[in-house]
Amino acid sequence: MIRTAISKVRTATKLAPECRGFASAASSKGLLERLREGPVIGDGGQVFLMEKRGYLRAGPWTPEATCEFPEGVYNMHREFAHAGCDVHQVFSFYASEDKLKNRGNEAAAKHGVTKINEEGCRLARKAADEHGGIVAGGICQTPSYLSGASKEAVQEEFHKQCRAFKTGGADFLIAEYYEHITEMEWAIEAAKQYDMPVAAFMCINKHGDLHNTSAGECAKRMAGAGADLVGINCHFDPFVSLECMEEMKTALEGSGHMSNPDFHLAVQPLAYWTPECGTAEGKQGFIDLPEFPFALEPRVLTRWEIQRYARMAYDMGIRFIGGCCGFEPYHVRAMVEELEQERNGKVGASSLKHERWGGGLGMHTKPWVRARASKEYWSTINPASGRILSAPTSQVDAWGVTQGNEELKQQEVRKENVGRTAETLQHRAA
Ligand code: ZN
Repeated sequence: MIRTAISKVRTATKLAPECRGFASAASSKGLLERLREGPVIGDGGQVFLMEKRGYLRAGPWTPEATCEFPEGVYNMHREFAHAGCDVHQVFSFYASEDKLKNRGNEAAAKHGVTKINEEGCRLARKAADEHGGIVAGGICQTPSYLSGASKEAVQEEFHKQCRAFKTGGADFLIAEYYEHITEMEWAIEAAKQYDMPVAAFMCINKHGDLHNTSAGECAKRMAGAGADLVGINCHFDPFVSLECMEEMKTALEGSGHMSNPDFHLAVQPLAYWTPECGTAEGKQGFIDLPEFPFALEPRVLTRWEIQRYARMAYDMGIRFIGGCCGFEPYHVRAMVEELEQERNGKVGASSLKHERWGGGLGMHTKPWVRARASKEYWSTINPASGRILSAPTSQVDAWGVTQGNEELKQQEVRKENVGRTAETLQHRAA
């Protein structure tokens, strides 16, 4: 209570009168309570953002930066809060112990699973408390499952992280980025033991999981396992993702889950265009694109395309709307501004620097730029890439390698994998 009161005083003195309604003071409302009031906005793609800023190594993608660069992690949370997000996910993606020591990764030995996750919780909590947000601890797919480990062994990897989230005061848990419904169910079952709401996101398209379970069936099984929120994240662009969400919604309406007022649909897609991944062949998603992960920039969605996505998601009935890889703070601001009316005028402080639909260009010196200060202009633009030889789409890799395959098995050393990959590439070229 004292902290809330102090925050309110701080808010009142710091913000100008026209800023009232901006997200700032601490709030005690939990996830389900917020969802009853209207759409909840997630944060952006933490792993990709932190890699670009030099705090995380592409390849293992593990978040030991919570111990090594805490100020960098905190600043990421602060920028998403400035953009107006409600949810701060703990920087805990791929922070299961088996991943922290997979293929030469020294993060488990250097810092340990508990410290990496607890520190992540502390940093997300600090940003959330300062800006009126809530904290989600996240667990995701494990090398143990891909290697064929038992349910008990895989769930113990989840528990090591969840115990840290409980200690660190997370408000709810997200089980995200699962390609197989079985591992997803194991994750939900483990997460539900911590007395918090559980959100469940697979990373699949409308053609279903990697063992050919349909998207609708996956949705029903996630709900059946006890998830409060069901949907997908990562791997596909917003519009490919919404096609999958339509399948899931139809299945969940059929199973009766949608009539529960505390059950919700959720989506957190990429901010990269992936039309060629909307097919059955492309179901592995953007990691199958030849541009993954270091040449994806030409595919980034504009803020206006993100606004269109946020509107479509809301109109479909999705109430937890966020982003994954490629989503920067300005993309989060775009979602917040699109749903400003539905959220009782709540926006982030960064919207003070962003007149709606390019309105600020009315102050530009040059008349032809001033002429672009309109919704009509920005909502209809078809931007060029500027790359003369750029093709609109690429060929997906489609190796068809998944759980149970020798090449996916967890191992502590790294060198063997490099040779194997080169061999396989030669084989493919032949
Ligand atoms: Zn992602």
